[in-house]
Amino acid sequence: MTIRAVVTGGSGFVGSHLCERLVYEGWNVVCFDSLITGDTANLAGLEGHERFHFERCDVADGLSAHGAVDWILHLASPASPVDYLAHPIETLRAGADGTMRALRLAREKSAAFLLASTSEVYGDPAVHPQPESYWGNVNPVGPRSVYDEAKRYAEALTMAFHRTYGIAVKIPRIFNTYGPRLRREDGRAVPTFIWEALRGEPLTIYGDGSQTRSFCHVDDLVEGLWRILNSDLTGPVNLGNPEELTILELAELVRELVGGPSEVRFVERMPDDPTVRRPDITLIRSATGWEPKVPLRDGLIRTIEWARKTWLAG
Ligand code: NAD
Ligand code: UDP
Repeated sequence: MTIRAVVTGGSGFVGSHLCERLVYEGWNVVCFDSLITGDTANLAGLEGHERFHFERCDVADGLSAHGAVDWILHLASPASPVDYLAHPIETLRAGADGTMRALRLAREKSAAFLLASTSEVYGDPAVHPQPESYWGNVNPVGPRSVYDEAKRYAEALTMAFHRTYGIAVKIPRIFNTYGPRLRREDGRAVPTFIWEALRGEPLTIYGDGSQTRSFCHVDDLVEGLWRILNSDLTGPVNLGNPEELTILELAELVRELVGGPSEVRFVERMPDDPTVRRPDITLIRSATGWEPKVPLRDGLIRTIEWARKTWLAG
């Protein structure tokens, strides 16, 4: 029988790639998205498909679905720091009210539930790399808390529904992901550096660029989500590429790959910006055999090629 899934936030960067994969796998997908940071253009490849349906809706205000549902995949939330700092209350509501509504729907439909969580639950980590057993170091009242604490609450709520009602739950903690469909102005490092380099402008580095991140290509990420959906895993599982580099190294790599005259310029760093980040992927590797396949350099080359075609034309 065809598996039927509700995907919240399916018009965004990760969600649109995931919807495509689920439809490709033969699933029936209903996507709910408020379009606060998403774009229906991301779903152009699924338009008119008989196993795909889009509905505009803010899941913090309401979420219902006709008929049987096997899976609720809850991705709805602004995810870029620039986006969530511009929409602090909406971000808290997506994580709190949105997750509550999504879990209630899962309970009503006897569906399994996946929460798209984040490496931000580790905050500015005192343990490096980060295993799932690390509880994190989050400033509960800093500007980033609107995202970090919303996701931490969403994780707690998900586990409470699991323990109380026996709902099957998966909680991928997604680390920095990049690839086609990132918005050029969404403020995240990869699209910003590419967009600046393509225009020959200086690449803007927050602080001295010594902070580290580990970037995963979206194709690897979606494969990881697919493996998690098909696994016996319950609860948090790191999903990311452990290939770690400094932000200055990332900027220099993007500049090299784009070519052109860009320099780097240093501006003040945002408060509570994590100093290091790298996933320990022992759990997902042992449970599902997943590991990332796309090296950063190759993934960036592909993303830059897409950006040239899409952003410079549009
Ligand atoms: P995105 O901003 O591109 O996508 C988020 C989508 O959710 C958008 O389409 C937006 O319109 C929608 N949305 C937000 N609030 C909503 C609401 N209340 N109701 C309905 N729709 C709503 O971001 P993304 O990078 O695709 O992130 C998707 C998910 O993955 C998020 O939950 C994010 O926290 C998580 N995540 C992403 C990354 C990453 O590097 N991309 C890292 C960690 C976690
Ligand atoms: N960053 C930067 N310049 C930018 C955007 C981001 O130097 O134009 C830095 C940011 O301070 C952070 C890292 O790059 O240390 C990754 O930022 P991003 O917004 O991509 O993701 P985050 O990991 O902060 O959610």
